[in-house]
Amino acid sequence: MRYEGAIYRPPSEAQSLILQATIGCSHNNCTFCNSFRDKKFRIRSTSELEEDLTIARRYYKYVRRVYLADGNAFCIPSEWLLEILRIIKKLFPECERVSTHACVQDVLAKTSEELIALREMGMGIIYMGGESGNQEILDMVKKGITRAELIAAARKLRAAGMLSSVTFISGLGGRRLWREHAIDTGTVISEMEPDYASLLTLILEPGMPLFDDLHGGRFELLSPQEVLQETKLLIENINLEKDCVFRSNHASNYLALKGTLPRDKDSILNQLSSAKWLKPEEFRML
Ligand code: SF4
Repeated sequence: MRYEGAIYRPPSEAQSLILQATIGCSHNNCTFCNSFRDKKFRIRSTSELEEDLTIARRYYKYVRRVYLADGNAFCIPSEWLLEILRIIKKLFPECERVSTHACVQDVLAKTSEELIALREMGMGIIYMGGESGNQEILDMVKKGITRAELIAAARKLRAAGMLSSVTFISGLGGRRLWREHAIDTGTVISEMEPDYASLLTLILEPGMPLFDDLHGGRFELLSPQEVLQETKLLIENINLEKDCVFRSNHASNYLALKGTLPRDKDSILNQLSSAKWLKPEEFRML
């Protein structure tokens, strides 16, 4: 396999074969994200990807899952994606699921028929960064999406039979908007009804525009206790009828939480109220 630059994948894809179908992120504008700032976005050719997969086949006897990197490989036009999925099926007939990240617009740009065809060819789960359910925060961090689009994308995936996994960021509203962030993120999860919802916790690093806002006094980070308070309000505002696996077990989180909503809502709230040990700042990472 040939990789260009740093590679990111969801924690749940730790055992997957990672195929770098695109380089970078086609949006690459969020003020809290440095992941692909140094990469110029492009889609890799199908022939290059086939070469990579052929090399991988020689080394890996059994590949259960494939994850298409980088930032939002779901932006690849459907016909092209179908071709990549066909190659994966041909070379790795044992592969049970292909996954990738999508920007909300990548999902909305595909027709329902295209989504169904992609699912039938093996695309099983789509990861999306929702970040917040609050429109003011989405605009502030230049996410380039609306709350309504986020809900529509999750519903469109579900209608096509694809799983959705959405990530939100604790502390993204800062001290000024923490309450709005918590309530609107809880309610947006309720409306999206994703199969998986997870929380990261904001970490700012040099190079991120939001880092400059922090040091320019235009943004204030939450303290660890304030993050827990925000998470509690967020969970209180999630009301689901359908099962959703909830996780906050990323390296950036102060407290690891895991459960299935709505069943484990009270237990998660109790863990938040009684938490005695929070991850020290120096052990948190992106
Ligand atoms: S958060 Fe996602 S969409 Fe935004 S710049 Fe980073 S990779 Fe791209």
